[in-house]
Amino acid sequence: MDYVTHSYDASVAASVSQTLFDRAAVVTPGGVNSPVRAFRAVGGTPRFMVSGSGPYLTDADGREYVDLVCSWGPMILGHAHPQVTEAVQAAVARGTSFGTPGAGEVELAEEIVGRVGPVEQVRLVSSGTEATMSAIRLARGFTGRSKVIKFAGCYHGHVDALLAAAGSGVATFGLPDTPGVTGAQTGDTIVLPYNDLEAVRHAFARHPGEIACVITEAAPGNMGVVPPLPGFNAGLKSLCAESGALYISDEVMTGFRVSKAGWYGIDGVEPDLMTFGKVMGGGFPAAAFGGRADVMAHLAPAGPVYQAGTLSGNPVATAAGVTQLRLLGDAEYEKVDAVSAEVRGLVSEALAKEGVVHRVQTAGSMFSVFFTDEDVTDYDKARTQASHRFTAFFHAMLDQGVYLPPSAFESWFVSTAHDASAIERIAAALPSAARAAAEASA
Ligand code: PLP
Repeated sequence: MDYVTHSYDASVAASVSQTLFDRAAVVTPGGVNSPVRAFRAVGGTPRFMVSGSGPYLTDADGREYVDLVCSWGPMILGHAHPQVTEAVQAAVARGTSFGTPGAGEVELAEEIVGRVGPVEQVRLVSSGTEATMSAIRLARGFTGRSKVIKFAGCYHGHVDALLAAAGSGVATFGLPDTPGVTGAQTGDTIVLPYNDLEAVRHAFARHPGEIACVITEAAPGNMGVVPPLPGFNAGLKSLCAESGALYISDEVMTGFRVSKAGWYGIDGVEPDLMTFGKVMGGGFPAAAFGGRADVMAHLAPAGPVYQAGTLSGNPVATAAGVTQLRLLGDAEYEKVDAVSAEVRGLVSEALAKEGVVHRVQTAGSMFSVFFTDEDVTDYDKARTQASHRFTAFFHAMLDQGVYLPPSAFESWFVSTAHDASAIERIAAALPSAARAAAEASA
């Protein structure tokens, strides 16, 4: 694959991480199990982490970092939260997988249904990818239609049909598409520019009675953070309703992170189906899709649309997820919002002081920094940013013990555990990182 690799002086790479990376590269393609972890977009050696505690990660060389990735979202209470750890240990001691129904699944499903109004029923799966893949199958089965609308820059996991103009790792690597996905698999996928309701209206007009669903990130975080313009999600919902299509809101990233009820808790637009992952698994592989009971009733064994999973509703994962969700009340979301606002303010101030043109964009507590001088409302605009400035900024922060997402096209995440001393460390690292961004040449 034609990945873009930015040059970076690898001599500062930590040695045990380098050794592990060398070993990994022998037995694993690219040395990682998920592409963005490889640092290809920013260069250098990925840090191999050995432990996490609260807002900190410690790498194999014993270096500590303030973590602004939080496992790409799940660790909203920080790492190794004592109550989550205790619940997991107790669950492990009871047995790790039964292949039968269990109480933990009921509790997690009730927790989700109790928080998110439009979700009347939910099915548990093991990854966000499975959740979106299954939701689309269900939408097609329910409507008897085949076409799916998605938006450029929105990432919904590595579902074949949705790997067309996806963001995230695909955005990072500048791959418009991926080998291995056939024309037949994406042939029913209509990719439209994000935040463009007129384009959606045209697509419905061109394909009457053919569109099964529109799937969108509730508030995109996979092309950097690009929130929906006012009225966009509501417009999608009503266009779907007028045409008998389902509106699927992908809340794998935003769900239980930006509010108790995710992005739905902020914009109140009622999806027909929703997908979840990340926070609801408490750091374990648990995800879900759910929504209207009449639609969910089409799912096996209640209905004809097949979907299954050996480890779906795994008792350890559900114990972690239930415990984490129950610990997330109003005070916790207020705390995460406050931490996010403080970090954003510090970053912006430092960059402005060095005259670095930038935009900090937010969706609730999720945010990212675009090195550009105009508001980013879609994928094309996101791609015009000066990512070489991000590369310099990223490495300067990393060298000073602050771990940012290793790509300019990803959201930053904070947790309730980011306390004053973690924020002080971030603040101390920012002036020289901002200088590095200012001095970076393309
Ligand atoms: N949907 C969204 C919005 C995501 O951000 C992601 C992952 O980042 C996924 C789906 C896929 O989830 P997973 O990586 O658990 O398969």
